[in-house]
Amino acid sequence: MRRVSVFGATGSVGQNTIDLIARRPEDFEVVVLTGGRNIGLLAEQAQQLGAEFAVTAHTELLPDLQAALAGSGTKATAGREALLAAADIPTDWAMVSVVGFAGLEISLRVAEQARVLALANKESLVCGGTLLKSVCIRHETTLLPVDSEHSAIFQCINGQDKVVERIILTASGGPFLNASLEHMAKATPEQAVAHPNWDMGQRISIDSASMFNKAMELIETYAFFDVRADQIEVIIHPQSIIHSMVGYTDGALMAHLGPPDMRAPIGFALNWPERADLPVERLDFGTLGALTFQHPDTNRFPAIALAEQVMARGGLSGAVFNAAKEQALDLFLDRRIGFLDMARIVEKTLESTQIEGQDSAPNLDAITQADNMARARAVELSKDINV
Ligand code: NAD
Ligand code: MG
Repeated sequence: MRRVSVFGATGSVGQNTIDLIARRPEDFEVVVLTGGRNIGLLAEQAQQLGAEFAVTAHTELLPDLQAALAGSGTKATAGREALLAAADIPTDWAMVSVVGFAGLEISLRVAEQARVLALANKESLVCGGTLLKSVCIRHETTLLPVDSEHSAIFQCINGQDKVVERIILTASGGPFLNASLEHMAKATPEQAVAHPNWDMGQRISIDSASMFNKAMELIETYAFFDVRADQIEVIIHPQSIIHSMVGYTDGALMAHLGPPDMRAPIGFALNWPERADLPVERLDFGTLGALTFQHPDTNRFPAIALAEQVMARGGLSGAVFNAAKEQALDLFLDRRIGFLDMARIVEKTLESTQIEGQDSAPNLDAITQADNMARARAVELSKDINV
């Protein structure tokens, strides 16, 4: 039996993780499950899997969680401190699928105790990649990427990292792949959230429409794999069947293919270092027809160029980038700014947030401070924008 925890169990990645764990009750002992406001789902998951602890991020929801778990044997706790304490409980395998910057500190705490940290929270690598990797090395924790592209790259590299020439990150292009700038300027959150291929949480879906998700993934690739920024390319592949590719010094390319189903990368991380049966659809190439590719339009999707700036600057600029992007997304969801304004705000925040003299390997305090500064700056900048 392996002791496993899932942080962010009620989200899109979390529910897929629970689905895989629930299929093999004889293999897993569930320690901690965490969630946010969806108390009903969290309690249901905890009861189904017989979890030791269920934790909601919201203190005021503790009575509801306690009531929902009465008589079940699962202990209910709540609030940020309870979440971090739960992250300290020893496990063999832990998934961090919390969304946003809130995931970084959880990842850092999990990295101190887990044997394997399965990481879906890309913000951890974008904001604190150097720090997180150093904690993993110090505690002999294996860090496995769960983002589908990074899982694909990891599987393609398969230990041959010394002879990698380039990494080709595929992007679906999202719902606005062929939309005009005029259409994008007027896009609503409802239009932006409708991803053509992947069924994901609200925030990452909108980030896919703006290609901020791909920008985050560029930085994530740079943080996770041992390559230079100029070795990473982005290519649009609207069918989302090739999840990414790795090119070697002999010109050979390895690609990872599969249906767009997050249970594939989650299951790979769950079964690592073995491979085991997964309930994912098998591809039929005759039915698939053509796989197509095109270069991203940097004019309509400026996020990619902003990620290149971040990789060149390093240090705290990933934290500034992510915070500005998260803040801009909140403003867009509140309909205070337009869809294209998100990139404008991130660009200006990067330009004008003072993080000079920054450390190349910042600690959590420095990262948190940069995050706070960038959020405040992004709000300030948004006041000059009229929707
Ligand atoms: P989601 O919004 O569906 O779920 C987020 C989870 O985090 C929920 O359980 C929620 O309760 C919890 N949460 C939210 N804010 C929190 C906070 N402040 N403190 C503690 N818990 C909090 O998100 P998702 O789509 O599952 O994405 C999760 C992470 O995985 C993100 O970083 C995302 O970028 C990444 N990711 C998601 C997908 C996908 O298919 N959804 C694919 C690749 C990577
Ligand atoms: Mg991805």
